[in-house]
Amino acid sequence: MDCRDFTRDFIISDFEITMSKRVIILGGGESGTGAALLAKAKGYNVFVSDKGTIKDKYRDELIRNRIEFEEGGHTEEKLLTASLVIKSPGIPDKAEIISKIKARNIEVIDEIEFAFRFIQGKAIAITGTNGKTTTTLLTYHLLKSAGFSVALAGNVGESLAGKIAHGNHDWYVLEISSFQLDGTKTFKPAIGVLLNITPDHLDRYDYKIENYVASKFRLIQNMDTAGHFIYYADDEVIASELRRQKPVPQLVNISLKSEAKAKYDGKRMCFSFDESFEIAQEETTLKGPHNLINTMAAVSAAYLAGAKVNAIKEGLKTFKNAPHRLEHVATINGVDFINDSKATNVDSVIYALGSYDQPLIWIAGGIDKGNDYNVVKDPVSKKVKALICLGTENEKLKSFFGGVVKHIHETQSVSALVRMALQEAQPGDVVLLSPACASFDLFKNYEDRGDQFRKAVLELKKEVENQLA
Ligand code: ADP
Repeated sequence: MDCRDFTRDFIISDFEITMSKRVIILGGGESGTGAALLAKAKGYNVFVSDKGTIKDKYRDELIRNRIEFEEGGHTEEKLLTASLVIKSPGIPDKAEIISKIKARNIEVIDEIEFAFRFIQGKAIAITGTNGKTTTTLLTYHLLKSAGFSVALAGNVGESLAGKIAHGNHDWYVLEISSFQLDGTKTFKPAIGVLLNITPDHLDRYDYKIENYVASKFRLIQNMDTAGHFIYYADDEVIASELRRQKPVPQLVNISLKSEAKAKYDGKRMCFSFDESFEIAQEETTLKGPHNLINTMAAVSAAYLAGAKVNAIKEGLKTFKNAPHRLEHVATINGVDFINDSKATNVDSVIYALGSYDQPLIWIAGGIDKGNDYNVVKDPVSKKVKALICLGTENEKLKSFFGGVVKHIHETQSVSALVRMALQEAQPGDVVLLSPACASFDLFKNYEDRGDQFRKAVLELKKEVENQLA
């Protein structure tokens, strides 16, 4: 018997004996509410406790389903009566309340782990520091358009628990963060995807990269030889960890430069599975070198899940990525306007600049989280003809790029920004909002920044068309 079956049998019998088990859920957000719905559906006695305010949408859902909850603080005595605690991935293990709960020997797990104990289909779990959302959405789209019974869950869209509470699917494509992986014990995807590991969120890992790496590798901790581990082999951190440990699942490496199961030969993505096949990036809707990696990961996952090559190729033609990621907004007078507002650090900007051969009007700025602009100096000097700074504090950008870019402007108005950009551009140029910075000085978040940019571009397009009419 495979160990997953054993786990499930164990859980179900455990669950039958303890129908009255009290499950406490910490955090009433997407994952907490999903976990509450699933726990309730499985007959548990459920209580949700949130330190802050629960959003109306989730509060209504709890009330509708007659699930008891509190908000604005935790009632400690209540929490300590739990037999199982499911915590939101946002709550660190070091939080005082978690230490108190653990001191009573109460089991603490994450929503994803809880949900997995009831899953009936197979999971494809996708993690990495960057590219998770794109790869998850693409894998889901490839399976869906190939006619699979598939659900999208995890960090993107609905929680896994919520999805399982609402019905069964053969496949679940999950975006998983390292925080979620930290709370797993029996979680065992059929296919695990690891895109890259670069230092991030190190405050949660005692500022030790090895702890962060260990967290990402929890992805494959329970996988057996029937499983597949798809990973980006050119990532030095991943490669060195794989030299250190001997993973159990079948390895599927991806590379942009060396021999691999999925490799880019400079022209096409080449896949060597039971069948060999090739795909050019022009046959997909995604641009840039980072998306070659994401595409090779998603195609490999879809193929290993059983999708036919032709169906995969068709799916690649119709995929639409989430907004704010190199999103083409409009073309005005032959100038393409691109919204890459999600690029909140300089690493993302490297990929954005690498995605275009045309001359660029680059829009950057906002709250700088300690950027070293040297890493983009070369592509900026070659491709960018004008830089427009969109922030309240633009000195660092202006002084760094002063000798690199001919024209530098600044503004805090999005509508002035798009006009300035159009004025600087010639037909065939690209206006690229890829800020390298967080957005909180002028906007609510990166989505708000991207939405305002899109709106201003579309208004300008209308204006220009009206003038021509
Ligand atoms: P995540 O969900 O991990 O934040 P996204 O798919 O939303 O990832 O992409 C966020 C940004 O990360 C993109 O705008 C792009 O600049 C960068 N990115 C995407 N894929 C990769 C990759 N494979 N490697 C490095 N950076 C990437």
